[in-house]
Amino acid sequence: MKAAVYESPRTVTVKDVPDAKIEHPCDIIVKITATNICGSDLHMYEGRTSFESGRTLGHENMGQVVEVGSAVSKVQVGEYVVLPFNIACGFCKQCERGLTNYCLTMQPEPALAGAAYGFAEMGPYQGGQAELLRVPYGDFNALRLGEDAAERQTDYVMLADIFPTGYHATEMAHVKPGDQTIVFGAGPVGLMAAYSALLKGAGRVWVADHQPDRLRKAEEIGAIPINTAEQEPAEVVKEATLGLGADNGCECVGYQAHDPSGQEDASLTLNGLIDSVRFTGDLGVVGVFLPEDPGGAEAQGKLEAQGKVPIDFGMMWFKGQHMGTGQAPVKRYNRALRDLIAGDKAKPSFIVSHELGLDEAPAAYEHFDARDEGWTKVVLHPNGHGNGHKQ
Ligand code: NAD
Ligand code: ZN
Repeated sequence: MKAAVYESPRTVTVKDVPDAKIEHPCDIIVKITATNICGSDLHMYEGRTSFESGRTLGHENMGQVVEVGSAVSKVQVGEYVVLPFNIACGFCKQCERGLTNYCLTMQPEPALAGAAYGFAEMGPYQGGQAELLRVPYGDFNALRLGEDAAERQTDYVMLADIFPTGYHATEMAHVKPGDQTIVFGAGPVGLMAAYSALLKGAGRVWVADHQPDRLRKAEEIGAIPINTAEQEPAEVVKEATLGLGADNGCECVGYQAHDPSGQEDASLTLNGLIDSVRFTGDLGVVGVFLPEDPGGAEAQGKLEAQGKVPIDFGMMWFKGQHMGTGQAPVKRYNRALRDLIAGDKAKPSFIVSHELGLDEAPAAYEHFDARDEGWTKVVLHPNGHGNGHKQ
């Protein structure tokens, strides 16, 4: 089968690899019909993680079941399914509590928790930017889709990661109807957080970024854009809230946060959030921060290389704010969000800018990594139907 394979920093090639196959009676094999490139893939693409050369990328996957193991009883061949990026067993102490993002069974390293497809430090599993994907514990992990699955793939594939992740940010921030919410980052995850806040009935949602094309998407869904090249988010929000600040906020950027000139500073968005959100407000941090960043040129010799990020903890404590962090437990939300899509109440495909074939993955990585104008979200179709640029 063909797959998008990570070779070395900024080099992805599409080549033949061994077919995915059943390795355990609970596995299913999925023919991938849609798989996205994620901001998290870029950390690996740029060589900013321990991701091994030769591995297949891709953790935002959906497709059609083509084979099921002998112990699979629910999922059937021919069904369309979407796979949470978290690979979980369903029976460990963490999964029992709904924390599939920190499954103990699927992570082989005893000191770690959580597994994912084609992901650094998240187990040995191959990614889905390929023609076929092996899905462990298929009955538990696969979410089945309805009859409109094939025609609405660009909506449903967002259930693998970014729609539930954005929603999770708003859950950790406790966004409620009428709230005033600030989101840092207008990438796919930030846009999904803003969209989720609006779906929950937030009264006002600001989205801060310096990428005008992404801010336009935020405006399209009814959020208020803040271009950080021109305005200071905390000032804008305080001015609109009698100086009090937003009720809550979401961090959707991560450790590569930078100023509009490109200078990295991992504390920028966290401190922006602490400053923008009022006393006792909640902060949901889904942007990725890592225990080490050996590949970060600008982090070299700095505390950031060891995962130490200087945040305004004194101010955060003084304000009595709470912060939630970590990978999103996709399974907690994907069924409900699927039904919002099926019921025409949500259409997360508004962020998609490109639908491409698998062969175009190398170029797509280059453009998405450069945050080139208009490249907001790439969906790859490894088994055909890539029809070029949307919009
Ligand atoms: P992305 O890189 O496409 O988007 C990040 C955006 O942040 C960009 O538009 C960039 O211009 C903007 N940005 C950079 N510095 C900024 C600053 N100082 N202020 C405001 N905006 C700034 O990535 P994405 O796909 O949207 O993902 C965002 C983050 O979420 C990444 O860290 C990704 O790894 C993470 N993520 C986490 C989970 C999870 O489960 N927690 C899941 C998916 C993605
Ligand atoms: Zn992702």
